[in-house]
Amino acid sequence: MTAKLIDGKVLAQSIRDKLRQEIASLPAVPQLDIVLVGNDDASEIYVRNKIKAADNIGLKTNLHRLPEEVEQRDLLSLIDNLNADPQVNGIIVQLPLPEHLDMHQIINRINPIKDVDGFHPVNTGMLQNDEKPYFIAATPLGVMRLIQTVCPDLSGKNVVIIGASLIVGRPLATLLLNKECTVTITHIHTKNIKELTQKADIVVAACGVANLVQEQWIKDGAILIDVGINRCEGKICGDIDFDSVKEKAAAITPVPGGVGPMTIAMLLHNTLEAYLLQHK
Ligand code: NAD
Repeated sequence: MTAKLIDGKVLAQSIRDKLRQEIASLPAVPQLDIVLVGNDDASEIYVRNKIKAADNIGLKTNLHRLPEEVEQRDLLSLIDNLNADPQVNGIIVQLPLPEHLDMHQIINRINPIKDVDGFHPVNTGMLQNDEKPYFIAATPLGVMRLIQTVCPDLSGKNVVIIGASLIVGRPLATLLLNKECTVTITHIHTKNIKELTQKADIVVAACGVANLVQEQWIKDGAILIDVGINRCEGKICGDIDFDSVKEKAAAITPVPGGVGPMTIAMLLHNTLEAYLLQHK
């Protein structure tokens, strides 16, 4: 293998160690409240991992479980209570929500200074204006940290992002643009993505299509960031075919052990920031 491995596990561990020290020196324990609706298997695992990681660095968590058939107004009223509770520093609503719920109205109800997922339009709007938001979504924030370990100066780089979701592709495109990259954002309807990625200095794959990106998709010396989490023959794999690209790329994140651990570390970072913001 010639590509440098960008180890998200090691970076996330060092971030968590620093957070643990900072939290231990605070007069009170920062608190993260998590709202989980229904019994989606993947969401259960993500929430469990978040709670475990928070416990591990001394953050308090509260899990609010609501039944699948919860009504919009009851969920909104829970958000209102959490907004009003001074003990609650950060609020996240685990996505996806059941179809009968209006996700946008629910996210928009969270006080932007408690919106540690960074999905509220105040936070996304500030990011768009190149103004410092209260919070930036954890996955794109983690991706930026990973890229900067191998490419500290991003100015003028050509970046192609595969996937245009609200939680990954779009905020990441803005973050990269704010660092003076030339960003191409692609999605399911984009034609000939391969022709675009072949010219990219950095490719970020965040589409949820197992092993989509192959050796002939990339140029020599490209930096590859794999956000995808897919199940392939009983194992977890990414959107980039690691074995196919590892001799051609300059650097690559593994799956698992790349973006995933950084997403959790950035959520914990945001929760500490929320506490500090509310105790200024
Ligand atoms: P999403 O379904 O909301 O969005 C997927 C995006 O990819 C859409 O813009 C869609 O148009 C695009 N897309 C789908 N198929 C495509 C194709 N064949 N070619 C080009 N574009 C295509 O998904 P999401 O929530 O952004 O997640 C994407 C992937 O990242 C999933 O595998 C998810 O599990 C993973 N993910 C990982 C983390 C992490 O922490 N590692 C965090 C969030 C999401």
